[in-house]
Amino acid sequence: MQVWKFGGTSVGKPERMHSIRELLNNDPSRKIVVLSALSGSTNALIAIGEAAKAYDDAKAISLIEDLKTHYNLFIKELYATSESLAAGQEIVDTEFGFIKSLVGIKPFTIKQEKELVAEGEILSTKMFQAYLEEKGENSVLLPALDFMRIDADGEPELATIEERLVTILNQYTDKQTIVTQGFICRNPREEVDNLKRGGSDYTASLIGGAIRADEIQIWTDIDGMHNNDPRIVKRTFPIRELTFEEAAELAYFGAKILHPSTITPAKLRGVPVRLKNTMQPEAPGTLIANQTSDRDIKAIAAKDNITAIYIHSTRMLNAYGFLRRVFEIFEKYKTPVDMITTSEVSVSVTIDNSEHLDKITADLREFADLEEHDRDQNIICIVGNFSADKEGIALKVLDAMKNIPIRMISYGASEHNLSLLIHSKYKAEALNVLNERLFYYEDAMKDIFTAP
Ligand code: ADP
Ligand code: ASP
Ligand code: MG
Repeated sequence: MQVWKFGGTSVGKPERMHSIRELLNNDPSRKIVVLSALSGSTNALIAIGEAAKAYDDAKAISLIEDLKTHYNLFIKELYATSESLAAGQEIVDTEFGFIKSLVGIKPFTIKQEKELVAEGEILSTKMFQAYLEEKGENSVLLPALDFMRIDADGEPELATIEERLVTILNQYTDKQTIVTQGFICRNPREEVDNLKRGGSDYTASLIGGAIRADEIQIWTDIDGMHNNDPRIVKRTFPIRELTFEEAAELAYFGAKILHPSTITPAKLRGVPVRLKNTMQPEAPGTLIANQTSDRDIKAIAAKDNITAIYIHSTRMLNAYGFLRRVFEIFEKYKTPVDMITTSEVSVSVTIDNSEHLDKITADLREFADLEEHDRDQNIICIVGNFSADKEGIALKVLDAMKNIPIRMISYGASEHNLSLLIHSKYKAEALNVLNERLFYYEDAMKDIFTAP
């Protein structure tokens, strides 16, 4: 079995849903199809939630009407028969009836917010399943809320997901296509919850890992993982092959094409992940597995909204136990540390979740001196094969960055990551100069040397 996930743009227009059916039919394997919400819907639902939370009911209702109009037009083009259109209208009316019922609830809490935002995936999957039914496809809709579970820390409960999914799938061995929602899940209070923005990729990988799929395919609007952020850098190209480790680093350090946690469940079970372009299905995309091509430097990504904390020991030199005490505090507040640099008496760390920053710094001050922390920092992450015998990689990176102030450098923790901390105002410049130096330098040199 394979797991195919289609993102917001890939389901964002009726004709895109038609193309998905063709893609599914062109491939003989049985599939679990994970869908995101139609593009723009999750943002629209969040805006409705904000109005409802502010008890601006008039605004919430008007935003709901606008969104419903969009769906009413969508289904008119999605279905060919009047029976299917009636079924589609029934879906839209029911779900929007539920959305409206949330407005006016007091207090409007995170519970209602999460139920609201889940509607994007519920609508897209119900509408798509009704379309497959219209076309006589052998498919079924499987509600993700029946098997997708997270724990109190928001982490997926792998054993529960696997057990439930395998049991449910045993009832549908005759189905060629099984449709389900990305992103949404239940928490330990049995409430509707989600895997955070972009979480449909993570759903696909959790399912793929749980059922030990032959392959997980993430279908999106670009022909695979590019060597740099195509929204910021002009000349980028798709990378054909990445290892799980390289892809995990790129996703974690900001390559938006994948949710940061996507690779973990796939890697755990060794299930290859292929990134494909719905608009250009013949393009090879990117294969993420154990093997890789031999280019040393693969790609660059940037992680935004980083805070750097600079900690100095107040005790004598060589004080052991200092790092342990520092990290216990980050553990206490469940705040992951991304980058670390140390000197004899100082340690600098970066975090991207600054929710508990005040408490963390207050606790640290009990045994350490803190410099003023820096917000609005950016981690630039260069990923590739940097084994110890590779020469000159750091030189190339630092040469490219010669005009940009660097606050921290991390190199050598793994063989595939070199990270730099800079102020976010230099992000675009850094991505561009690194791109030219690391991927186009030979071209530039060739031009110079062959110039008349
Ligand atoms: P989907 O809605 O299908 O989940 P996303 O918008 O989440 O799609 O992800 C695809 C987008 O990720 C691309 O359109 C591209 O702009 C952006 N992106 C950022 N970094 C990269 C990268 N390194 N390679 C490819 N795409 C990237
Ligand atoms: N619809 C959700 C979002 O926009 C999940 C996803 O698209 O992956 O974040
Ligand atoms: Mg996405």
